[in-house]
Amino acid sequence: MRLTRAIAATWATTLVFGLGHAAMPVDSEASSWGGEVRRRVAITIDDLPTVSRNFTSAADRDRLTTTLVGAVVRHHVPAIGFVNEGKLYRGGTLDERDVDLLRQWTRAGLELGNHTYSHADLHTVDADTYLNDIARGDNVTRRVMAEVGRTPHFFRHPFLHTGRALAVRARVDSLLAGRGYRVAPVTIDNSDYLFAAAYDDALARRDSAEAKRVATQYVAYMDTVFGFDEAQSRTIVGREIPQVLLIHASFLNAQMFDALAKMMERRGYAFASLEEVLSDSAYKSADTYVGPAGITWLHRWALTRGMPGATFAGEPEVPPDIMAHAAR
Ligand SMILES: [Zn+2]
Repeated sequence: MRLTRAIAATWATTLVFGLGHAAMPVDSEASSWGGEVRRRVAITIDDLPTVSRNFTSAADRDRLTTTLVGAVVRHHVPAIGFVNEGKLYRGGTLDERDVDLLRQWTRAGLELGNHTYSHADLHTVDADTYLNDIARGDNVTRRVMAEVGRTPHFFRHPFLHTGRALAVRARVDSLLAGRGYRVAPVTIDNSDYLFAAAYDDALARRDSAEAKRVATQYVAYMDTVFGFDEAQSRTIVGREIPQVLLIHASFLNAQMFDALAKMMERRGYAFASLEEVLSDSAYKSADTYVGPAGITWLHRWALTRGMPGATFAGEPEVPPDIMAHAAR
């Protein structure tokens, strides 16, 4: 989730009166490869099995998954999908068709993680409710992964809301560790869901010209988001770290994953697993952020270290027509 204007204003004030710049340790690992920038990114895909506001039939869910997984595999991306298991039940009964959607991921060699059962928001439910939602969020995922000899190892907080108090964060972290989970951070966040809503609307109206226009704008927007977060990384960490991209299991991303992957490849990225990316020392940085926003880990580290507000200027905007379209 992006910052709201109000939160951003509060944030800038905090930063202006912060403690000033404190550089982070720089890895000795080379950031260039044959004279060219060599970048790495882990692709994380949230809200599995599928998320669409217009296309929700079993056939739609299957088509979305087949298209998305197919494109991910074609580009040899070791992606991870984060599951909301509540979506696998219809009228209280587990829908085996949806379990098969998860199997499309695992049988393609892709990893699955826990995104809570019901997409719970830690900033609106009490900690006990949230912990229960994590605990009941991986029954099917564990079974489906066991079929291919694997277990889930990563947890993604819905809305990137990690708690409003350090004590709450510690309780959640402790439960996660006990269940063998590590928190999946995000360094490249974006508003893909707004473009996805506009795209789905255009498809529902059978306006293919508009759908194509939205999709083209989306890839251009994501290109600028990458440029922004690469610069953020240089400013905050002192170098470009291996990044973690968050996108959603939407029709837009299913249809446009090929174009997104090509955009990343053009920027010099190689695809890496989440585990590989998190082995970079930057991900050991302290994070004591307990503010209201679902912000990236780059920004959490910066806030934890009291870095200046100028760091955060220039975040790419979603075009107004996409915002208007998504709000319908
Ligand atoms: Zn989510």
